[in-house]
Amino acid sequence: MNDLTKEQQEYLAEWIRARKVRLLEEIRAVLARSGKERYADLVGEVGDTGDEAVGSVLRDVTEAEIIRDVGEVRDIVAAEQRLSAGRYGVCTDCGAAIDYKRLEAYPTAKRCITCQQRREKTRAPSQYTKR
Ligand SMILES: [Zn+2]
Repeated sequence: MNDLTKEQQEYLAEWIRARKVRLLEEIRAVLARSGKERYADLVGEVGDTGDEAVGSVLRDVTEAEIIRDVGEVRDIVAAEQRLSAGRYGVCTDCGAAIDYKRLEAYPTAKRCITCQQRREKTRAPSQYTKR
């Protein structure tokens, strides 16, 4: 269970939805600019269906701007999946409720601040299992 009120969760869900629309528009604009309208059409379809395939559709595209945007779209799609599965706002590592303040600053967060910091400090998996 997360710690969010219905209103808070609705606000975050709406933010995520709007952000996704903006990102997909951005990706489309960059593709159009670089003469890759063929891909832009696919992004449109992916955006409509909410399909995570956007990553594979664009794997040939090398523009740094797009790679960053597609990475964020992936995070957003994952957050939407957690929302519909009722697991949004719950840390994927320890199962604790993620603070609303953290979600407000970073709505696609999938870990609580403790787990995120631990993950950033201990990159090596071996250190992980020794805990
Ligand atoms: Zn955690």
